[in-house]
Order: sequence, then C-alpha cells, then structure tokens
Amino acid sequence: MCRRCGRTEDIDCLIGSRPCLTPDADHGFTVDEAEVVFWGLCPACVSAAPAADNIHHNEEEEL
Ligand SMILES: [Zn+2]
Repeated sequence: MCRRCGRTEDIDCLIGSRPCLTPDADHGFTVDEAEVVFWGLCPACVSAAPAADNIHHNEEEEL
C-alpha cells in the first residue's frame, strides 16, 4: 500500500521467510486467514518524490 497516494496492489505470493502469522492472543476468534500489508511508495510516488524524502535510515546515517 502506498503511503502517499493510498494505491494498493494485491500480491498473490510471498517470497522469503514467513512473518509471524500466529497471534499471541486470539480473543476467542477462530482465525482462518491472516493478512500482511507491505507499506511503501508506488512507482508514481517514488518518481515524484525527492530521493531522501521518505527514507528514514538516511537520518540515522547523518547522526
Ligand atoms: Zn503512490
């Protein structure tokens, strides 16, 4: 999901190691599905944004 314009794209498959998908408390629910959301910037916003605008670790490198 794009942080800037809110554009979303569905992703059918995940690669790499799985994130933790077991909740530590189910609050009585019977869970049958989990959803992972990847936040970032869509290509349109990346090309429109100044390079350092949304890259947080740049701030850390400067410290
Ligand atoms: Zn966007």
